[in-house]
This record gives sequence, C-alpha cells and structure tokens, in this order.
Amino acid sequence: MTGVGRQTSTTPRVVIVGSGFGGLFSAQALKRAPVDVTLIGKTSHHLFQPLLYQVATGILSEGEIAPATREILRRQDNARVVLGEVADIDLTARTVTSTVLGRTTVHPYDELIVAAGAGQSYFGNDQFAEFAPGMKSIDDALELRGRIFGAFELAELATDQAEVDRLLTFVVVGAGPTGVEMAGQIAELAHRTLKKDFRRIDPTSARIILLDAAPMVLPSFGERLGGRARRQLGDIGVEVQLGAMVTDVDENGIEIKDADGQVRRINTATKIWAAGVQASPLGRQLAEQSGAELDRAGRVQVLPDLTLARHPEVHVVGDMISLDKLPGVAQVAIQGGRYAADAIRRRATGKPANPKPFGYFDKGSMATISRFSAVADIGKFRFGGFIAWVLWLVVHLMYIVGFKSRVTTVFHWLISFLGRGRSQRVATQQQVYGRLALEHAGPEFPASKVGGLGTASGPAEGLSRRPGTDGVREAEAGPGPRLGS
Ligand SMILES: Cc1cc2nc3c(=O)[nH]c(=O)nc-3n(C[C@H](O)[C@H](O)[C@H](O)COP(=O)(O)OP(=O)(O)OC[C@H]3O[C@@H](n4cnc5c(N)ncnc54)[C@H](O)[C@@H]3O)c2cc1C
Repeated sequence: MTGVGRQTSTTPRVVIVGSGFGGLFSAQALKRAPVDVTLIGKTSHHLFQPLLYQVATGILSEGEIAPATREILRRQDNARVVLGEVADIDLTARTVTSTVLGRTTVHPYDELIVAAGAGQSYFGNDQFAEFAPGMKSIDDALELRGRIFGAFELAELATDQAEVDRLLTFVVVGAGPTGVEMAGQIAELAHRTLKKDFRRIDPTSARIILLDAAPMVLPSFGERLGGRARRQLGDIGVEVQLGAMVTDVDENGIEIKDADGQVRRINTATKIWAAGVQASPLGRQLAEQSGAELDRAGRVQVLPDLTLARHPEVHVVGDMISLDKLPGVAQVAIQGGRYAADAIRRRATGKPANPKPFGYFDKGSMATISRFSAVADIGKFRFGGFIAWVLWLVVHLMYIVGFKSRVTTVFHWLISFLGRGRSQRVATQQQVYGRLALEHAGPEFPASKVGGLGTASGPAEGLSRRPGTDGVREAEAGPGPRLGS
C-alpha cells in the first residue's frame, strides 16, 4: 500500500472520485483555484455516455466518445490523474483508497468530491446481466457491437429458419431515451446499412422489439412527444410492446408477462438492457458513515449545497445524489460539479461557502429516433422531427470533448446519416467473450500475466464485475459464452 499526496505545504488537497461529467467538470472548474487536485477514475478515459449507442451500432469509434482524461487535463498544472477503482472512503480519517491491478493507494484529502455515477440495475434480477448486457461503458458498447453484428453473421450461416429468426430478433428492454435510440439505430442498421451485405439472409427482415413495463415510450417527455416517438419508431420498423414486464432472460430468449397477466416468450439471441440504474456502491459507504439516507436506487441524500450532513468537506454530485427529485442527466452532474468546485475555491481563498443552495438549470432533453428525426423538450417547447434532430446534433457536438473528436465525429455522422455506411463495424472475439470469460475466471484471474502490476500472491484487485456475477459457480463455468447468446 502506498500513500501519495502527503504534502508538507498547506495547499488544500482535493480528491475527486470519477472522471465522468461530474468529476471532470469539477476538476476543470478548479483550474485556477489554489488547491492540489487528484482525480481518481477507474477508467483512463472520460466517457460521453449519451453516444454509447452509436459505438454499439458502428457509427462512432470508442476514441471519439472517450478521450483520455490525462490528455484533457494535461495543461492543468494543479491536477493529477490517477487510475484506480475507489474501494473505500473513510470520512473520519479523510482518506480515499483506490486499487488497480493489485496496487492499493491511499489518498488523504481536505476536500472530497464523489462523482462515481451509476451502473445498470436489473431490479433484483442480476442474473439477467449474463444474457442481456447493459450499456454503461465502452466495454458494454463494444460487446454489444460484437453481439449485434455477430448475430447477422451467424444468421447467414444458419440453416434452420427458426434459428435464423432467433438470430435476427433483437430485443431492447427499456423505452427511455437510451432504449429508443438503440432500437432506432438497430433498425437503421438492418434496414439500410446491411441491406445488400448478405447473400442468404435478408437483413431487412430482422425484428427489432422495444419493450417496457410502463405504458408509454419516453415517459419523461410527456404523452404527446412519447406518442410521436412511438409512431416514428413504428415507421422505421421497430415493434413497440408496452406494459410488458420481463420475467426471465436466458441465452435463447426472453420471457415476458403482459399487463393482462399472460406470459409469453420471444426467441432472441440479442437482448439489450436499457432499463434502470443503480447508483455507485460508494453511496452506501457515504450513507453509513454520515447517517445520510439512501433511496431505492442507492442514491445518497445530500444537503441543498451538495454536501453530506456534518461533513461540509464532502461533496457528492451527479447520478449518485438524491435531492429534490433531480434527474440522472449529464447537466445535473456538470452543474453540480461546478457548484462543488466553486464552494471549494471559495473556502480555499478564505471566502464563505456558496451563499445559495445548488440550483439546477434545466436546459431540456432530447432523444433521437432515427436519422433526421428526434424529439426535444426544451423549456416551454416540446417538438419533434428534423429541427429537433439538427438541434440534437449541434448540442451533442458541443459537449463532445476535444477538437479532434468533434471533427471525426462529424465525418462519421456524414457517412452514416447522409450515406448508408458505418465506419466502425470491427468487432473482435475478445469484445464479445471478454466480460463473461473474466467473470467465469473469477477474481483469482492473475492479471499480472498480461503485464499488470505483479502481486506476490493473491488475486488481482480492481477487475470490475457486473452486478450479480459474484459467486458464479464452478459448474457454470463450463462451455464458454456463445456469440449472440
Ligand atoms: C447510454 C446512456 C445514455 C445517456 N444519454 C444521456 C443524454 O442523452 N442526455 C443526458 O443528459 N444524460 C444522458 N445519460 C445520463 C448521463 O450520462 C449521466 O447522468 C451522467 O454521466 C452522470 O454523470 P456522473 O459524473 O454522475 O457519472 P458518470 O458520468 O457515469 O461518471 C462516473 C465516473 O466514475 C467512475 N467510477 C465509478 N465508480 C468508481 C470507483 N469506485 N472508483 C473510481 N472511479 C469510479 C466511472 O468510471 C466514471 O468515470 C445517459 C446515460 C447512459 C448510460
């Protein structure tokens, strides 16, 4: 175990957990503050999650939406980037402990910003994760890309029509923005991009099903826009099934209970989980030590100034917080990160903390349905169609970090939206099998074998695991995972 950042100077030490929207924007907002910033992220990149579905469907490369955090902060002299998964926060000792590949580091802090975001929630059915990956990380998006394109490849080889049908059926669970965008893009892929690429199968015959237990699509956009989105999805060939609760998932399909109580099954190779989020488990640690409450999604109750009760030095921002029913969106994290940074800067310069509580300015929300079509909910205006889509393009381009990424993103969008191509169709076996293989290998997998930091003995720590995969039984580690299952 090593300790870093123990300075003899009196410069306040700010530790930030997470390199997502909340973490990165708070670090940047501290650029001119007289503090030493240590940003700890379990990945070496900052991820622009709203475009993950475009990586999964071959439009964008992962580099375009995930620039290296170190590169973004290279000109910020007061900031240091550390790779590691934070496993422990000690509010009494004021330390954060991070681990990467068996190496543990303790970071003392004077001010702490926790912005560790949220993961996928399977609503207590974590076993579904094996067959229905979510979409929260680059790993997830690349695995899904491999599964989606792989399903078409396997269908081309299949001789039995029932098997072709299973492989060409794609089910997206969750009709929120992520699910809608994902289903829309798979439909475009099948009906436009891949139309002429195969000889034995007809990709345009693929079934794309978007289902949700709720009675409407895009509930947060209201009935009118939700209804419009549903019609547009129908127009591009997406079957929308509402009031449909997923009761089981296995490698060959999905079981559903409809609102009338009927149970039915859809045979499908590719299942994508876009329903539900669960805040980082670090929220529980904060709650247990500070007495704050946790809500059902694991979000920690913060004070109106985004700090924890009796811990004005601990700021929590973004998807991890429960405050005034704020939504889990990028702007809440960005604005919260900047607000926390402002409080820290004030304190570091001898001023009183923020006089006003955190106030979220809602800039609106948007979701694309297909090329040239989106819905937007901005202030008093709720509209859909081409103008909403153009607005969506502009806003997303503005928030992609880095000039290089913006240029190449525009180029790839031209290829996909004006043309019919997809520049990023590469999928490797590792992308498809890697997650499950690691989970089956278990925590004993010796990461030092692949050049990681060696440990004298014991497991490599820091390998992230999906919810519900702990304790995968030996017997289940039999045949490896199958492409498209
Ligand atoms: C597929 C998808 C699409 C979305 N689309 C939109 C959209 O269109 N518009 C919108 O406003 N919002 C959208 N969101 C939501 C938005 O991305 C989140 O609200 C936002 O990212 C929250 O920011 P955050 O900083 O709280 O968390 P995140 O951005 O998730 O960042 C969390 C960071 O913490 C790191 N981390 C987690 N645990 C640890 C640990 N233990 N140790 C160290 N580091 C850790 C993660 O690696 C990550 O860097 C979308 C989300 C997803 C998943």
